[in-house]
Amino acid sequence: MPKFDVIIVGAGLAGLSAGVELTLKNKKVLIIEAEPVVGGRTSSYNLDGMDVESGFHRYIGYYSHLPSLLRKVGIKLDDILTWEDKIHVRVDEKHPIELGLAPVFGIIKTIKGVLGNSEYLTIKDKLSLIPFFVSGFKDYLKSPEDLDSFNIRDYAKKHGVTSRAFHYLIVPLSAGIFFLPPDRYSAYVFFGLFAPGIPKFYKLRIGAYLGGMTEVMCKPIADWIEKRGGMIMTGTKVDSLQYVEEKIKGVTLNEKINYEADYTIVATTLHSAKHLLKPNFEEHSWFQPMFKLPLMPAVCFQIDLAEPALPLDITTFAPNTCLASFAEQSRTTFRESNGRLSIILTPPEKFLKMEPEKTLEIIMEDAAKIGMDLKTKILDYRQINHVYDFHSLEPGHQKLRPIQQTPIKGLILAGDYTKQPFFATMEGAVYSGIKAAKCIP
Ligand SMILES: Cc1cc2nc3c(=O)[nH]c(=O)nc-3n(C[C@H](O)[C@H](O)[C@H](O)COP(=O)(O)OP(=O)(O)OC[C@H]3O[C@@H](n4cnc5c(N)ncnc54)[C@H](O)[C@@H]3O)c2cc1C
Repeated sequence: MPKFDVIIVGAGLAGLSAGVELTLKNKKVLIIEAEPVVGGRTSSYNLDGMDVESGFHRYIGYYSHLPSLLRKVGIKLDDILTWEDKIHVRVDEKHPIELGLAPVFGIIKTIKGVLGNSEYLTIKDKLSLIPFFVSGFKDYLKSPEDLDSFNIRDYAKKHGVTSRAFHYLIVPLSAGIFFLPPDRYSAYVFFGLFAPGIPKFYKLRIGAYLGGMTEVMCKPIADWIEKRGGMIMTGTKVDSLQYVEEKIKGVTLNEKINYEADYTIVATTLHSAKHLLKPNFEEHSWFQPMFKLPLMPAVCFQIDLAEPALPLDITTFAPNTCLASFAEQSRTTFRESNGRLSIILTPPEKFLKMEPEKTLEIIMEDAAKIGMDLKTKILDYRQINHVYDFHSLEPGHQKLRPIQQTPIKGLILAGDYTKQPFFATMEGAVYSGIKAAKCIP
């Protein structure tokens, strides 16, 4: 029976990041991944004949743990990303609202965006955002639990944000970033996501991937681990954890094959983690909060087009439509396509059980409202449902997230839902993996 120092269940960014850290500590690592490719929610793959990504992803310039992981395995950020110093908000058929968000890389655009009047936001509207943001960041630091009891709509109301500023700025940001309407979005999560950017404002900008994320990022990380003696099994689901004499001793596959290790890191989604932990720890008090932490879905839709839908590949929010955030990606992530839209839909629950044909109809109607005529250009499309993949970011749930070190011998958790300050992001997943690896002496 093979014996390892550490078994990691799941080869998403959390599992891969733990894998790199432990390999650097000379641990003998086995990573077991249920899907045929590594990357989890950042994977790219072929779905019934069409190359797709698990979901439209953007790298935020202030990330530090993800770039550090990439450096360790020899990936240069500028080789896999292209940089955007502005985003677009489309509210009607007219030209988009352009928001500069890179104070160093797009100085003029950012200053004009903050200080100028526009047809959508007057200076008065912009000024109404100041007390909202100042109090938000203060509460984020001083009373996080209180802040997590508010949704973003109520918090904006409390601080006198004008309805136009709310509609044209807060709604696109909340729906665009975590695909939730503002009345379901925790104010703590909203401010918490921007907070790490404040001391690193000079790094603010957005990175778009130059290729599928498995291909340019996750597979090279996995290859690095394997080259240094780690083992990675894909297409292999862990059925259960071996719990013997109050210690986790490894995992079981296909109800019969056992792999043993001194430590097991469960680096799956919250949904899978609950499934693996409940048989042994259903009644254990330490696990009760995480068992109560609700799940949240996401739905992504990708359309292959005969020509680009938009003149630029740029992150776009469309607050009056189901297109929470999207981008044309034929010059960036999907360069083999003539035109490619990758869209995250809101609210996800509406689309989860919908036939893709029907979803496409709704997307086409909404796209027309913001001046994108897709009808004559569509070649192919796929809907990718993440039914159980996120922990809930609604108010009141942050306190239910578990830390990585469990009280059970040999058992450690990782994954974006575990406690770390970057919420459900690539940075959060990577940092959770680093924290999990630190639990192992
Ligand atoms: C549509 C979408 C858009 C996103 N946009 C952004 C963005 O713009 N910026 C950003 O920073 N983040 C974004 N994210 C979030 C980011 O992708 C996630 O936070 C991160 O990838 C989570 O990594 P993880 O390792 O925690 O989990 P996952 O990537 O979900 O990895 C868990 C892995 O465990 C495997 N697994 C589960 N059960 C088992 C089992 N029993 N046996 C073996 N393997 C198992 C799964 O197959 C999976 O590969 C987005 C996510 C989605 C879905």
